[in-house]
Amino acid sequence: MSAALLEGKTIAAKIKEDLAKEVGRFKSKYNAVPTLANIQVGENSASAVYLKSQMRVAEKLGIEFQLHNLKEDSTQEDLIKYIDKLNDDQKVNGILVQMPLPKQMNPKDIPRHISPLKDVEGMHPENLGEVLSGKARIAPCTAMAAFELIRSTNIDLRGKEAVVVGHSEIVGKPVSLLLLDKFATVTTCHIGTGERGLLSDHVKRAEILVVAVGKAGLIKGEWIKKGAVVVDVGINRVGDKLVGDVEFDEASKRAAYITPVPGGVGPLTVTMLMRNVVEAFKAQKGA
Ligand code: NAD
Repeated sequence: MSAALLEGKTIAAKIKEDLAKEVGRFKSKYNAVPTLANIQVGENSASAVYLKSQMRVAEKLGIEFQLHNLKEDSTQEDLIKYIDKLNDDQKVNGILVQMPLPKQMNPKDIPRHISPLKDVEGMHPENLGEVLSGKARIAPCTAMAAFELIRSTNIDLRGKEAVVVGHSEIVGKPVSLLLLDKFATVTTCHIGTGERGLLSDHVKRAEILVVAVGKAGLIKGEWIKKGAVVVDVGINRVGDKLVGDVEFDEASKRAAYITPVPGGVGPLTVTMLMRNVVEAFKAQKGA
């Protein structure tokens, strides 16, 4: 068996089409379009690709994109003051602080300073809390991208064995909650699971597997259950190639569906971000 590919761009295309129509309707209804403000502190080549892709997709959808550059040696207080200014700016509907931040800042402290109504990355404690209640209007983009890819298979998640490897706030934990909300039986594995040598035991029974760790080849292809849905969020550079956390060739002989890396979760993440910008705009207009 060779798995069907879950390609982010295919799903993103349909969502983008709907978003562009919605933005068009906003123009006539509110005489305004959603505006995303991206704050970048210093220069970073790692974020340049993500930034470019945000600009390209925003333009395509008719979403206004603002780039705010702060100096590399800015303090955390400078950044928070800047966020406050954008929180108060009626024109701005969504705020994103581009990672990574310079060493003098603690990235974990930042999301709580963005107004929850403008937190388009879904990382404010209030928005993360809404994910817990199953009523999230804005959820973390990468977690939603992974979840949309699983949903695109139309597999009924109720009672399914779902295993999530990785428990970060940005991916692993919210993906676990989104799956739980659809009545999957969710096991969340992490570094502690790996240290006890129990990772393979859990992965082997996964009917739905999401991996978000950042270690190439961590998940052996032979561990994949026959017919599983495999979503590989990991991005690792090996030589001049980008690979995920799952051994792709072997895994795709066993899985029913698998995401390629690159081309799986990545292309959908930016679309999820733009969907959050549209949702933020609607929430601010009371729509
Ligand atoms: P993170 O470093 O915050 O979290 C890594 C997780 O992996 C932790 O929960 C940790 O406990 C777990 N882990 C580490 N070693 C392990 C082991 N041996 N066994 C089991 N679990 C282990 O990372 P993150 O921000 O969640 O990102 C994870 C990966 O996803 C990275 O490769 C990142 O580049 C990628 N990513 C991709 C996108 C995208 O759009 N495609 C977006 C965000 C992150």
